[in-house]
Amino acid sequence: MHGWTILYGLINFAILAAGLYFVGRKIAVKALSDRRQSIENGLKAAAEAHAEAEKLPERLAGQEKDAKARAELLRRETSEQAERESSTRGESEKLATGEIDRRAKENAADILSDARRELTGLAAREVTEAAAEELKKDTHAPARARLNERFLGTLSETVAPTVADRAALHNGASLPVAVTSGEALSDEQRRRLESLIAERFGVGTGAPVYTVDGSLIGGARVQIGDTVYDATLTHTLQRVREELAQEPLQGEITSALRERLGEVSAEPDIYQTGRVTQVFDGICRVSGLSDVMSGELIAFEGGLRGMAMDLEKDNVGVVLLGSYERVQEGESVRRTGRIIEVPVGEELIGRVVDPLGRPVDGRGPIRSTHTRPIECPAPGIIDRRSVSVPLQTGLKAIDALVPIGRGQRELIIGDRQTGKTAIALDTILNQKGKNVICIYVAIGQKESTVASVAERLRAEGAMDYSIVVCANASEPAPMLYIAPYAGCAMGEYFMYEGRDVLIVYDDLSKQAVAYREISLLLHRPPGREAYPGDVFYLHSRLLERAARLSDEKGGGSMTALPVIETQAGDISAYIPTNVISITDGQIFLETDLFNAGVRPAVNVGLSVSRVGGSAQLKAMKQVAGRLRMDLAQYRELAAFAQFGSDLDKSTQATLRRGDRMTELLKQRQYEPMEASEQVVSLFAANEGYLDDVELGDVAAFEKGLLARARQELPELLKKIASGAKLDGDDQAALRGCIEAFKKQ
Ligand code: ATP
Ligand code: MG
Repeated sequence: MHGWTILYGLINFAILAAGLYFVGRKIAVKALSDRRQSIENGLKAAAEAHAEAEKLPERLAGQEKDAKARAELLRRETSEQAERESSTRGESEKLATGEIDRRAKENAADILSDARRELTGLAAREVTEAAAEELKKDTHAPARARLNERFLGTLSETVAPTVADRAALHNGASLPVAVTSGEALSDEQRRRLESLIAERFGVGTGAPVYTVDGSLIGGARVQIGDTVYDATLTHTLQRVREELAQEPLQGEITSALRERLGEVSAEPDIYQTGRVTQVFDGICRVSGLSDVMSGELIAFEGGLRGMAMDLEKDNVGVVLLGSYERVQEGESVRRTGRIIEVPVGEELIGRVVDPLGRPVDGRGPIRSTHTRPIECPAPGIIDRRSVSVPLQTGLKAIDALVPIGRGQRELIIGDRQTGKTAIALDTILNQKGKNVICIYVAIGQKESTVASVAERLRAEGAMDYSIVVCANASEPAPMLYIAPYAGCAMGEYFMYEGRDVLIVYDDLSKQAVAYREISLLLHRPPGREAYPGDVFYLHSRLLERAARLSDEKGGGSMTALPVIETQAGDISAYIPTNVISITDGQIFLETDLFNAGVRPAVNVGLSVSRVGGSAQLKAMKQVAGRLRMDLAQYRELAAFAQFGSDLDKSTQATLRRGDRMTELLKQRQYEPMEASEQVVSLFAANEGYLDDVELGDVAAFEKGLLARARQELPELLKKIASGAKLDGDDQAALRGCIEAFKKQ
């Protein structure tokens, strides 16, 4: 009943303030001192506000019309351009029109929802502020005093020692108790409170310290140890405001607001607090937070977030996720009770986000309904299945010699500027139309580099199935540290939904460096190369989460392509050896090859794929076996032939073959090839059809041959792609096609 009086006031003023907000009558109404009069006026204003709010959809519809008009213009421009370009592409153009219409609708819906969100935020602020003003008035003093009574009632249902409190009491420590209230507690209330605490905690709590604080408006707050039971009106209003800012109200705004305020619970909000005792570079030590979990999200004043990393006996090391210039010693922080998590789901596709899942591409908020903790145990052995479906990179040098299967972890390793990112990007581009979701995690790269990668993906249409997660070089080390886990959590969501995912971590050396920085700041003992002892676990727990799931688990997969940068080709350094031992193989890129024009600069001798072979297309396997042997022979002879001058015929032939094969394996960036066409090229080289082609003409020869094969042998290409072996007839058909082409 008492709570109802307060809420009645709240509701009336919700309506009143909403009215004020919409019709701007604040000043006129403020002058009225009589409460009844003011409520009547408030109701009148609310009616007007209601009418105004009714018009809102029309206004929003106007905006929608604008958006539609803009989209229509865009559509017309695009279609005109396409018409100019060619008439043969009529079919695909039709598809594109549908796509543009869909986007226009989405765009309009976005604008509508943004407007609603903004409106809700503003209205919530006005309403809560007006309610606070009203509730502070003397007329409400009796109601406010009754809140203390109510608080004591609810407290008896909730107050209990936490695990850490019990441990502290057991060790003979004393828990301080502080009571702050808007109106003073009566002697009788104090006695009841003290006996309640003594009953629940036993001896060991200190005598309560009582304070009266008018700014709390009404209600009371009790802090026992680190735990706070807060039922003050200021806190409640603050909570309402924050909640309303999270999701826009649906339907007619005044009545929706009224409904939400009616739902406000009088239960105390229970949370644990701590105090910042030390601040360093991106890290702080916090006392209190006695029950905090490792990896828990910690809320700082002003919206900054942190993650608990070091749990020590009487303090917690917290890494700060964001700009930390404003954090001060003595500042109060709050537990959120949640392990750090990111939004996941379809809504993220096509977006560029930071490691906390917040959009950074200026394309509006992400309205995902699911979240996942960034750290999560990897699937167990029973839940896994061996790799058997290929993940085509579209690069001949890789698909033929170091094949990758879905669910595999294949390391891309090499010095700086050897085309590591290029391989990852080509692989993403090649997943177009193959029903694979791609996630590119950029760690510690220049902002401009990441922007151009995202731009390239968008231009090639790859953003339709991709997510970019970026922690730029300028961001604090903790962001670089959590970025791969965040990307992985986003991928896992799809994997457990039974989809296939490809995730690129570019690059993990920078993550290791960021982790080293955090560890050193946290005073963890440095080990080899000054990395902390658990840097192996840093990468193993990440890469173990890539898997191919069994059919019972939905049959999804996550293929991981971690990237590691080496110094002067040294793959025996600490981090490279670690990651090599965690992954199922590596693609080793060499500076010398890259500079000699062999791009992709794959060192065929040092690159391996331990499990991908079983996933390779059968026809590809047939041609690749021969290729690998020929190349090995070629490498041996090439080294030797540097010294000799007179070479016998067969040596010359082997060298000639090897030169042409190396030439054939070169591939330009952003031009991934279909697996079936790769087979045709490699088949031609294996059979010696390239031996009499000049080195400079190899690329042109391949292009011409493939064009002819596409026309003459479409059925055979399909057959190869479906995973069938090349039988005698197929080989004869291929030979026929190649010979005919050579004659021409
Ligand atoms: P970083 O160490 O800076 O990350 P990286 O190893 O990722 O470099 P990339 O950025 O992929 O290397 O490539 C370096 C340069 O080589 C780029 O300018 C890229 O365009 C070029 N490049 C990469 N692959 C090829 C290719 N197959 N053909 C032609 N140029 C290429
Ligand atoms: Mg790179």
